[in-house]
Amino acid sequence: MEAKLRKPELLQRILAAVEDSGWSALLLRAEHPFKLRLFRADDPAHIDVTVFIWNITHGGGAARPANELRIQLTGTVPTVQTEGKTLLVGWNEGYRVFVAFDIRRHDAQASSSPSIQVARSALLQAHTHSFAIHTRGNRETVVAFRPEYLIEYVRSQAALHSPAFARGDLPDLVNSLDTVTDAQIDALAASPRRMIVQMLKRKYRERDFAARVLSAYRQRCAVCGVQIKLVDAAHILPVAADGSTDDTTNGVALCALHHRAFDTNLFSFNESYEVQVSNRRLEELRAADLLLGMSNFQKALLPALALPADRRDYPSPTYIASARRLRGWAD
Ligand SMILES: [Zn+2]
Repeated sequence: MEAKLRKPELLQRILAAVEDSGWSALLLRAEHPFKLRLFRADDPAHIDVTVFIWNITHGGGAARPANELRIQLTGTVPTVQTEGKTLLVGWNEGYRVFVAFDIRRHDAQASSSPSIQVARSALLQAHTHSFAIHTRGNRETVVAFRPEYLIEYVRSQAALHSPAFARGDLPDLVNSLDTVTDAQIDALAASPRRMIVQMLKRKYRERDFAARVLSAYRQRCAVCGVQIKLVDAAHILPVAADGSTDDTTNGVALCALHHRAFDTNLFSFNESYEVQVSNRRLEELRAADLLLGMSNFQKALLPALALPADRRDYPSPTYIASARRLRGWAD
């Protein structure tokens, strides 16, 4: 039996997707169609979106092909809004993916043809490979994606649905984010299309690294034990450094405070995983009269990293040593 969510639950899926993307949302209208303002941290740039959303399911009926899913445009007529972006999406609770249709092709779609179909394979593709570009019979480009790609979809919505995007090799590259190489992407002519593929690949890498590291540390900060969804996957040897990789062993789970403190070199850990506060930074802070809170900070630190359950996920001594050299820690 296919799960069908009510509108408030669909709204929760959208809000969770925004959070999962590392962005925040202000709810401007809580009734369907939902209206949200999407923003990130202190960036004044924001994106207003109106979201028309329905469950995308087979919907029953033996006469319908089993490989075809659909949204039924009940209750509300989707219309392109004059302000901000307008999304026309389906959510499938089983595959846990969104399917986005080209709103311009369904603007004010009459209630005499109240459903839009898409092949089940597009949802399966997005479920297993993160992202999928699929061309419908009417040459409409449909985009299916995991929740964490919602922001990337919103930002490149117009380009993704343009007929030019789905031409040539591009769908193949986008549909294999897990295996596509930088060389394959670089071989594309420089264009906004290439930038979108690069953005999606970068996102795939970040998500893949974060998923492995956070799961290895059970979503807990390795130096204070905090969870509460404030934990990042931090690179031990920074991404910008030569020799840095996205190996799980170049990662450590750190809460927001400790991630910042690690990146600013207030503390480090050695190849035996002992946590050490920087005397040099302490002196600098003392000289600047900015030492308040330091004793609590030190008390909260574990003496050594809380390590993953699986030894293969332990931070690699090679990355630790390189990072410490780079950051001026004498052995
Ligand atoms: Zn912490």
